Amino acid sequence: MVRLVLVLGDQLTPDIAALRAADKARDVVVMAEVMGEGVSVPHHPQKIALILSAMRKFAVTLRAAGWRVAYSRLDDPENRQTLAGEILRRAAEVGATDLLATKPGEWRVLQALEDLPLSVRLLEDDRFLCSEAAFRDWAKGRKQLRMEWFYREMRRKTGLLMEGDQPAGGQWNFDHDNRKAAKADLLRPRPRDFTPDAVVEEVLGQVEARFPHFGRLRPFRWATDRKGALAALHEFVAERLPRFGEEQDAMLEGEAFLSHAVISPYLNLGLLGPMEVCRAVEAAWKAGRVPIAAAEGFIRQVIGWREYVRGIWALTGPEYLGRNALGHSRRLPAAYWGAETRMACLRAAVGQTRDLAYAHHIQRLMVTGNFALLAGVDPALVHEWYLSVYVDAFEWVEVPNTLGMSQFADGGMLGSKPYVSSGAYIDRMSDHCGGCHYRVKEKVGDRACPFNLLYWHFLDRHRGRFQGNPRMGQMYRVWDAMDAGHRAAVLAGAETVLARLDWGEVV
Ligand code: SF4
Repeated sequence: MVRLVLVLGDQLTPDIAALRAADKARDVVVMAEVMGEGVSVPHHPQKIALILSAMRKFAVTLRAAGWRVAYSRLDDPENRQTLAGEILRRAAEVGATDLLATKPGEWRVLQALEDLPLSVRLLEDDRFLCSEAAFRDWAKGRKQLRMEWFYREMRRKTGLLMEGDQPAGGQWNFDHDNRKAAKADLLRPRPRDFTPDAVVEEVLGQVEARFPHFGRLRPFRWATDRKGALAALHEFVAERLPRFGEEQDAMLEGEAFLSHAVISPYLNLGLLGPMEVCRAVEAAWKAGRVPIAAAEGFIRQVIGWREYVRGIWALTGPEYLGRNALGHSRRLPAAYWGAETRMACLRAAVGQTRDLAYAHHIQRLMVTGNFALLAGVDPALVHEWYLSVYVDAFEWVEVPNTLGMSQFADGGMLGSKPYVSSGAYIDRMSDHCGGCHYRVKEKVGDRACPFNLLYWHFLDRHRGRFQGNPRMGQMYRVWDAMDAGHRAAVLAGAETVLARLDWGEVV
């Protein structure tokens, strides 16, 4: 009897579990573009366009490989515009009662599949290098789930950057070499822009007409098939990887990409695999073309952090979405949706996000994430924003990064302390402060950097939770040693910033 095989928009890998388990001769692959997914949160138009373009091209690849594909386009008049609706329509068309699927990376979609009146067989997404069971075993009995220990196990398991049972270069982690500020006067090769072909142009027209969400659709610069994704990978390894390590935490006005890989959307859609990108980076190091610090810093992001957050997502389940350990409840400032702000760093991060659907990890963590945390924004709203605006954001990766690492909403499961900083960190790592309305060196007064004011306000209002934290005690001692009048002025200044955010005034 014919069976349906579901392939989702971030499952564009020819040997994904459901396709491996399916039978080309009798099964029908279902792929569906539906409004319901495009508006589940207000996804950036470039993200929607990338996924739909890549899906259309992947369907052609599958057909060429001999698969029968029932593909629902967004503009199909019969399209029921929900995933469940389209699966059931296809099931009725071919008389199928069974559905084979690879586990989706979003709890909402998983629930929708489990609720279908079909016999659904879900297979684990084994494109990840660490299985859910292996991560559970690793996490079992540990008081703290430290990424660094997980990462070392993954190095041993994969053999990446290993010399026997020892780490290449004599150490596991070269992070101390990777925290340099960027030099503004260096010429950097920018990642190539992929000119939209006819398939992409058609999608862009449809997205433009249907999704009036935050974010510019054009120029659209993304690769939309495996060939393009591979070209982007090889170009990164050859041209930007040598400087990736030292610049990975830096920020510069007008330099959106610096030396970053910008391949995360391709990895997360399935156009590239985690092992192949790591092997390409390791090979460049072995050939003497890149320093160990750059290769190690990149590989740690992929087999360490990426696998770790996916493990956390699978381990915790949907209840993680509702966590709000610090009880934060403020609305997301309008500046996150493009409203005016006098803060140069926030303007740069959000402006770039609007134009490119992309910002690198420090812009996400130490500018937009840091400010939202200091201001006490409801983490569910921060989560919705990140899931919406970034081209590489899918729930399995975005939720632990946002709720755990960035917003401390999980109470410290991911991080032993919250990622908060005053303006000094941004000043050290960027050139934003020089052109800002605010003065990063000023601690009080109308022109004092809002990060400075809110940093102490955050520590003060969460004293009960953090004072005893060994990594934060020193900051409380610094705060307590300040003159009482100065502390009162800082807190009053912070209250003014928060009130202005609440009133919707420009900050
Ligand atoms: Fe950002 Fe403060 Fe620097 Fe302005 S002064 S760019 S708000 S860190």
